[in-house]
Amino acid sequence: MRIAVLDTGTLAVLDGNELIEVPATATGPGGPLQAVIGGEATIDLAAGRRIPLAAARFGAPLPRPGKVIGAPVNYLEHKAEMSEVQSIAEWGVFLKATSSVLPPDGTVLLPYTDARTDQEGELAVVIGEIARNVSAAQALDHVYGYTCGLDITVRSKEDRSMRKSFDTFTPLGPWVTTADEVGDPTNLLLRCWVDGELRQEVNTREMIFGVADLIAYTSSVMTLWPGDVILTGTPAGVGPINDASSIEVEIERVGRLSVAVSARGAIPYADRPRPVVGAS
Ligand code: MN
Repeated sequence: MRIAVLDTGTLAVLDGNELIEVPATATGPGGPLQAVIGGEATIDLAAGRRIPLAAARFGAPLPRPGKVIGAPVNYLEHKAEMSEVQSIAEWGVFLKATSSVLPPDGTVLLPYTDARTDQEGELAVVIGEIARNVSAAQALDHVYGYTCGLDITVRSKEDRSMRKSFDTFTPLGPWVTTADEVGDPTNLLLRCWVDGELRQEVNTREMIFGVADLIAYTSSVMTLWPGDVILTGTPAGVGPINDASSIEVEIERVGRLSVAVSARGAIPYADRPRPVVGAS
């Protein structure tokens, strides 16, 4: 199944060129798909109302995941373009603020007028079952599905977790495709365009830590809960995004996610809140 959350907050399941909008079920701040993944709600397609896909306005499939985990330098060619000596094997994983999630067709807001901010197109894994110290061989049994993700990043000097955690910096969607429909997550074509120009194109087999290894590794550190999201890292081809840019990321058998970019409200980097030097 391909399961979306509409901007009205209701669940909808893709069926060809239509969506079957499912009546509201028990839900909390995590939204209705989180409730389904967590086993607190079920999807009753028989009660659904059909709407054309073209008329749908999507919300984020998981507007407030329990965790958003990132994978730094998880493709060799991206490691080379960043002139990195180390990769995920040395860096480990990092966390992004869950408040950075942005719905499909939303607008990424650039925080600074003069600090480079990049797109990073990524396959996002949605956890389905509690995973703690799972082996790579068992890891994929704990996956609910996959969605398209962007890990928007300011290239400044602060800690990774902050540079990637501005509001709007984690677009997800447009829906979650369940694991059974995706099959092998290490053989998916991933492409990302900025302003219609293809910047990133890779097969997910090129990951340094494949999806199973990444889940196993992460679960050796932190318990993964249903609805947690793991961004699996970006391939080569990251680059600046600017006011009025558009970004699209498409992943084979998963979906295609589009967002806009705006510098509305952006400030010079030097004007960011910070202690005044010499103040007592
Ligand atoms: Mn990334």
